[in-house]
Amino acid sequence: MNNQLQVNLSEIVAFAEKHTEENIAFIQFLKQLNTETLDAIVHTLNEQIAPKIDCTICGNCCKSLMINVTENEANTLAKHLNQSREEFDDLYIEKGNSGTMIINKIPCHFLQDNKCTVYEYRFEGCKEFSAMHLPHFQQRLFTVFMHYNRCPIIFNIVEKLKAATGFDRNLE
Ligand code: SF4
Ligand code: SF4
Repeated sequence: MNNQLQVNLSEIVAFAEKHTEENIAFIQFLKQLNTETLDAIVHTLNEQIAPKIDCTICGNCCKSLMINVTENEANTLAKHLNQSREEFDDLYIEKGNSGTMIINKIPCHFLQDNKCTVYEYRFEGCKEFSAMHLPHFQQRLFTVFMHYNRCPIIFNIVEKLKAATGFDRNLE
């Protein structure tokens, strides 16, 4: 990786496949670092990298993630769409056994031309992703690396994090 940000999803997937072993070693390396120091480095990288990546060109999270929906979110969005909850649920919601709700289609129904058509009413999970601004990065390594080959923001932060933490790629 040079200093340029990688935003080409095909190249990110290919890079991720080639660096599986390196990333397994990196995860073990990250687990040994001080939690607060690691969060501070990740947050700084996020502030530098996230604003440079145009999510309206990418849209890959909306095309590939399962989206959780709460009762409140469903009520609010149904109202905004002038639909009853019954209509809204029939059109957009899949319900799990324990009362959980997810959007019933991937890519998400509300994505058009790579833009969210209900942006003001999007779900908490949508707002939170890529989650690189959140604390406890070390406790979220599984999900970080699950999304590493899907989200250019996460991918570029992780790759820059290797240099920022002094990870020795040759030790894999
Ligand atoms: S609601 Fe909007 S932001 Fe959330 S997944 Fe759908 S299109 Fe994306
Ligand atoms: S958050 Fe990541 S996956 Fe989603 S649109 Fe932005 S860069 Fe793409």
